[in-house]
Amino acid sequence: MSLFKHFFPKPLFTQLTVTSNNGFHLRPVAQFASLAKSFPAQITAATKHKTVDAKAVNALLSLSLEKGDSFTLSIKGKKAEEALQSLLVLFETLMQNDKEVKKIEKTAYIYEGSVTEGEIISQGVAIAPAYRYSSEEVQHKNDLNFQEAHAQSIDELESLYASRKEKENAMIYLAQRELLSSLGEISQSLVEFEALIEEESRKLAGTRLDAKRSDYRDILQRVKKHLGLEVKVTFPDTPFILLCNDLLPSEIDMLLETKVLGVILKETSVNSHSAILLRAAGICSLIADTKTFKQNEILILDTHSGVIVQTPSSDDLQKANVRSAQDAAQNLHSAKKRFESATTQKGKVINVFANVGDVNSAKIAKEEGAEGIGLLRSEFLFKEVKPSLETQQNAYKEIFDLFSNITVRTLDVGGDKALPYIDIPSEANPFLGIRGVRLFQTHPQLLEEQLHAIFLAAGEKSIKIMFPMVSTVEEFTETKAFALKVAEKYQLDISHILFGIMVEVPSVLFLLEKFNEVVDFYSIGTNDLTQYLFAIERTHSSLKADALSPVLFSAIETILNKASKPVSICGELAGNKDAIERLLALGLETLSVSPKSIAQTKEEIRHV
Ligand code: PEP
Ligand code: MG
Repeated sequence: MSLFKHFFPKPLFTQLTVTSNNGFHLRPVAQFASLAKSFPAQITAATKHKTVDAKAVNALLSLSLEKGDSFTLSIKGKKAEEALQSLLVLFETLMQNDKEVKKIEKTAYIYEGSVTEGEIISQGVAIAPAYRYSSEEVQHKNDLNFQEAHAQSIDELESLYASRKEKENAMIYLAQRELLSSLGEISQSLVEFEALIEEESRKLAGTRLDAKRSDYRDILQRVKKHLGLEVKVTFPDTPFILLCNDLLPSEIDMLLETKVLGVILKETSVNSHSAILLRAAGICSLIADTKTFKQNEILILDTHSGVIVQTPSSDDLQKANVRSAQDAAQNLHSAKKRFESATTQKGKVINVFANVGDVNSAKIAKEEGAEGIGLLRSEFLFKEVKPSLETQQNAYKEIFDLFSNITVRTLDVGGDKALPYIDIPSEANPFLGIRGVRLFQTHPQLLEEQLHAIFLAAGEKSIKIMFPMVSTVEEFTETKAFALKVAEKYQLDISHILFGIMVEVPSVLFLLEKFNEVVDFYSIGTNDLTQYLFAIERTHSSLKADALSPVLFSAIETILNKASKPVSICGELAGNKDAIERLLALGLETLSVSPKSIAQTKEEIRHV
């Protein structure tokens, strides 16, 4: 290699074409820029008219790339080859996974009053007075400067993303964080930042990305809030249909706390972040012009037919009430049947259990029709301070009393979950480090106390205890032997207690014959199993393993074929409606899902 080439390496080029019907919009752009930023090389994206820094979300967005548009990705400098490969793979994945929101077909409308038609965001029927969005800016005392307010806003978006990361709409917060970080870094003051936001969102006006302008406003409001300039939105405390140009994602969070029955937005699209969040919240909503509606007039919002009815006749009101009652009956149907067992078309009864994370969610699970607890995540007790034996015993007892079938998992910290009062040396790869059952090698006292509390709470009840992150047979046998010693030390009879493992580390698949000799049961943890099978961190901001990959189903099949002890499943996959039929076909008979998914999971099973 010539010296010249070494010092002035040629940039690598590739041509990328947008194939998603949604265009290259904010969420994929944010993931793309986030990955680009992780490389030291200089990375640019160029169209015929413009070349921009591919690490800056706003710059990439300003290319306004729609389906069929191409751009040249150019990479120069350190690790250019690696960056190119990674970005290519990510771009392909983003394009493939970016599904277009299906247009909801309208049913014919049946009303006599004056009708305005719109585009459906989310289906339902609402009858209520109209309330036009109003807000005012309130000045609070504040000591932060722009940089500090910017940093706090980034932290806030980061934690909003982290707290929702298992959900599809978490990407909205990641996208906003990336946007804020790229715009904030080039602004020195609020005035500059506001001007920049104004300029950038003007560029999107009239393009397919128009609706993303609300994300610009949202990040501006967030920063302003930290500077003491809060935009206060007021909502009525009685039921209402909201009329608004567009809503910011942060305002939808507030709306969920009100008695809102429906939302009519004027300036958004079915793919916008507000639309995604309204759909996720199940609020019936429509895109339509709102100017003819008056404050407080009674409206019918029927988003099955995609219409708003003004001055409804009594006949109209009756018809809308019937539709609304049909919706309620439909929901009630699955809700009502939530306490009934889930039997497949062939007459096989499937157990539907709940994954719970504290006493409250265990109570909700009971209300939602759970037939047992398939996974009690015990971390909730350990978050801030080390819990006393008594605190632990009381909490376990309260949960154990709710169900006859209980599986409790011993403390599963490490990885992304730290314990403030425990010193785990910092690790380069925490998800491959001291996690789950491995922690007890260095902190046996923690396990001793937890097991002691579980034994006391269980009394004579036959519960199951499960160890997380087990990767070798010895880890299980040693931990179980430790448990027996604890029982002996406190003179407790635990002969009725069963011991098993989470199957979440791939090595277990190759050791099942040996595990069969020592464990009483298995529970498949697909969240971690997927992470370790694909070597993609489950919290990674841009890489995502395919949750429905054939690899995962093949792993589950192997487990079911080799295991001679009962197997259940408690990862997110168990509640995924696109997976249930396949899981049952493989032979699973116990699914443990989040409390909110129980009624729906049972209904899915009844159709298999
Ligand atoms: C899993 O890994 O699939 C699981 C259920 O456990 P957690 O999500 O708590 O790691
Ligand atoms: Mg796990």
